[in-house]
Formats: sequence, C-alpha cells, structure tokens
Amino acid sequence: MKSFRKELWFNTPSRRAFVNITDDVDSLLKESGIKEGLCLVNAMHISASVFINDDERGLHKDYEKWLEKLAPEKPYEQYRHNDTGEDNADAHLKRQIMGREIVVAITNGKLDFGPWEQIFYGEFDGMRRKRVLVKIIGE
Ligand code: ZN
Repeated sequence: MKSFRKELWFNTPSRRAFVNITDDVDSLLKESGIKEGLCLVNAMHISASVFINDDERGLHKDYEKWLEKLAPEKPYEQYRHNDTGEDNADAHLKRQIMGREIVVAITNGKLDFGPWEQIFYGEFDGMRRKRVLVKIIGE
C-alpha cells in the first residue's frame, strides 16, 4: 500500500470564505500516483472546515446567511469562549456544523464524485495562514 501526505495553505483576505480546492486535491492525487484507494482532506484548525457540496454562488450566500443565523459573529460578548479575550467563538461553532473533513473514494486514478460534488475549504476566522491536510492511501 502506498501512502501520500501533503498540506495546502490558505490566507483568505476576509474573515469568512469558501474556497474550491477540488483542482488542488486532484493535482495531489495525480502526484501521488495512487489509482485505487481513499483520499482524506481535513482542516488542521478548529475554526475552519472542509466539506463537499455544489460550486454555486447562491448556495454559498445561503450558507453564509444560515451560519450567521445559527452562530452570529457579533456581539462578541454573547459567547463565553470570547471571555478568554478571543473573538472567534462563532468560528468554532460554524466549523462544527460544516465539518472537519471529507473522504473521497479513488477509482481508476480519479476522485470518484457524485454529480456536482466539489471540495471546499470553509474559512470562518481567516486573514492568517492556515492549512489543510491531504492524506491519500491505496495502490
Ligand atoms: Zn477560539
């Protein structure tokens, strides 16, 4: 069995962002040379997510609105986590909802997606360097 590990780095210009990383993951899959196996992609920070869904702008706006309803960024003092001097309690909650990681099957050297599936990095406390782990195992 082969094993491949790489990191993808991000520094989003805004506090929140959704970044399509499908092509990046696909490039790493090609680099790995693995044809059959599994590909794990996970955020390495507790205020960011990796998830799979549609690359459609309206949907991404819907996510932003929905997440702000569930866990509004402000007022900061509504969260006990922010008593520590941090301001990112909402980002931890948004990360929990959108998930830490995804796993995609690899078949014939390709990411074996369903219709319209794309991989996204979900940033909820950006404007600093953060990373995503890509681990591919198989043969
Ligand atoms: Zn925090």
